[in-house]
Amino acid sequence: MRPIKHVEKGLTYIASGAFKAIKSVNQFKPNPSFTPKWADKPILKSWQKTKPTLGFPRTTDSLCPQCVIEAREDIISGKKDVSILVNDKVGEIKAQIIERDGQVWMVKECPQHGKIEDLMAVDSKFLTHIESLFPGRDMQAHNDEKLHNHGSSTIKYGRGAVLTVDLTNRCNMMCDPCFMDANQVGFVHELSMEDVKEILDNAISIKPRRQMSVQYSGGEPTLSPHFLDAIRYARKVGYNSVQAATNGIEFAKSKEFCREAAEAGLRFVYLQFDGIGNDANSHRQIGNLFDVKLRAINNLHEAGVDIILVTTLVNGINNDQVGSIIRFALENPKKI
Ligand code: SF4
Repeated sequence: MRPIKHVEKGLTYIASGAFKAIKSVNQFKPNPSFTPKWADKPILKSWQKTKPTLGFPRTTDSLCPQCVIEAREDIISGKKDVSILVNDKVGEIKAQIIERDGQVWMVKECPQHGKIEDLMAVDSKFLTHIESLFPGRDMQAHNDEKLHNHGSSTIKYGRGAVLTVDLTNRCNMMCDPCFMDANQVGFVHELSMEDVKEILDNAISIKPRRQMSVQYSGGEPTLSPHFLDAIRYARKVGYNSVQAATNGIEFAKSKEFCREAAEAGLRFVYLQFDGIGNDANSHRQIGNLFDVKLRAINNLHEAGVDIILVTTLVNGINNDQVGSIIRFALENPKKI
């Protein structure tokens, strides 16, 4: 180990010792917590934060994947009402999280569909380390009784997140697989401007809401006739960061569209980006897709919109592209 590493390690021990000492003194004579302007309740002290059971073996709540599929089919076919998801604990079963041969597995048994096993971590020591870093649950959500009402899946803690709004399930591409089955379900699901406003107005009423970002997604969100108005409205009601998850085609086609989106308040795009060169993108069935990406990046950059590359890695398809994508980002620091 280099000498500087010993110094760093020593400093880390001193700092963590001092932190623990201050923490225990604070516990006996705590200063009052303050209430930030993005919440109606005071911030929690570290010792007030609760934790779920961690480590393994442990029992946890889980779902039977087959029961979930069946419940979804029953709802879509009209056999059952969507309210079963809130009231009936559909598909919920207990699971054991266990260590086996240095790995961590989730093992569960559905009375109807039998035993299910999922690999949770390839390295149990690493997972133990990650769990030891969990700082505890954040502030409890408030003003949210009507909106956070999703049965056992209800969000209870945290200070806001990125609100993803799927504007449409249409897309100008036909990827297989597609994370959204865009164009492949036989019906169009597209939000009206009234729907968009209702979602944004409702979500902004929840507290705490320190993080106030909206991400428009889809399908391809730029195909929605309300894309620009939706950006404008989000900024108007107070979301300070508006992003779009996009394949970039519409932005590549028109500088004017990029300028309009920037003027409406678009701050970032999450640009689908699977590799360098047209060959590395050919699995998406568009011959010149990389050229399209480059043009989208240039047009968006010119308009002042920041770009985040979003890569879907598939073993055997584009896992050899990781290094090239990172190099591409490093070589284009102003744009990416
Ligand atoms: S571009 Fe995205 S939304 Fe469109 S088909 Fe491909 S994966 Fe699906």
